[in-house]
Amino acid sequence: EAILKIENLKKVYPDGTVGLKEINTTIHKGELIAIIGPSGAGKSTFLRSINRLNEPTSGAVYIGGENICEAKGKKLRMIRRKVGMIFQGYNLIKRSTTVQNVLHGRLGYMSSLKGGFGRFSEEDTKEALDILMRVGLEDQAFKKAGDLSGGQQQRVGIARAIAQNPDLLLADEPIASLDPSSSEKVMSYLKTIGKEDGITTIVNLHQVDFAKEFADRIIGVKAGEIVFDGTPRELTDYT
Ligand code: ADP
Ligand code: ADP
Repeated sequence: EAILKIENLKKVYPDGTVGLKEINTTIHKGELIAIIGPSGAGKSTFLRSINRLNEPTSGAVYIGGENICEAKGKKLRMIRRKVGMIFQGYNLIKRSTTVQNVLHGRLGYMSSLKGGFGRFSEEDTKEALDILMRVGLEDQAFKKAGDLSGGQQQRVGIARAIAQNPDLLLADEPIASLDPSSSEKVMSYLKTIGKEDGITTIVNLHQVDFAKEFADRIIGVKAGEIVFDGTPRELTDYT
């Protein structure tokens, strides 16, 4: 089952830099895809074009059959609600608690702030705690997100994305700022939760070894083009 279909996707930045030459690919439900390639290859442009965080110049991106490139207003918001995002810099509200940050995913930012300490509905709080348990952070629930370690903050990032109940999860260099052991943890939570919930996950990675360890499929990008597409076993001499 194709969850994502990308056709002739192209990005030229306003200064003329070609970010993506022409991308064509189909991605199936439940797969964990790693996008690899050197700095400047177009990984981030690729990933951010999928939910139009970065506006493509031309082409089509079908998410669950709907072309997000042609969607506007309510339709666009509905498609985006099914796409979770995880960032290299975590993008948490540092002064808010872990639970509040998780509920940003579920309720949206304003409603999650209204909750204050322990003032969410019991159902919302329970939902957040359940999700935090899945990333091993139930004992950090009422700490300020900014007081957690980098690896813990990224696991909150995963929890927040999961709380949104997405079909597709986009992670842009989620482990680039983490040490190897935190990176292992973040990648294995991404993989396990993705498989349990049937979420399709696309992860940009600098580190080929992590791609080989965790991905079902690896897409290699260079100079804005796909130069490799296959399983980790098929990736032998990629540099
Ligand atoms: P990293 O590889 O660490 O993500 P990048 O250099 O790719 O860093 O991008 C950092 C930021 O600068 C991004 O927001 C990107 O869009 C922007 N950027 C990258 N290259 C250029 C460029 N040539 N001109 C303008 N902005 C750029
Ligand atoms: P990667 O994520 O693989 O490091 P990027 O997608 O960030 O690559 O960048 C792809 C190309 O697009 C690079 O040449 C980069 O300099 C350029 N680029 C990225 N963002 C911008 C921008 N905002 N303006 C101009 N060029 C950009």
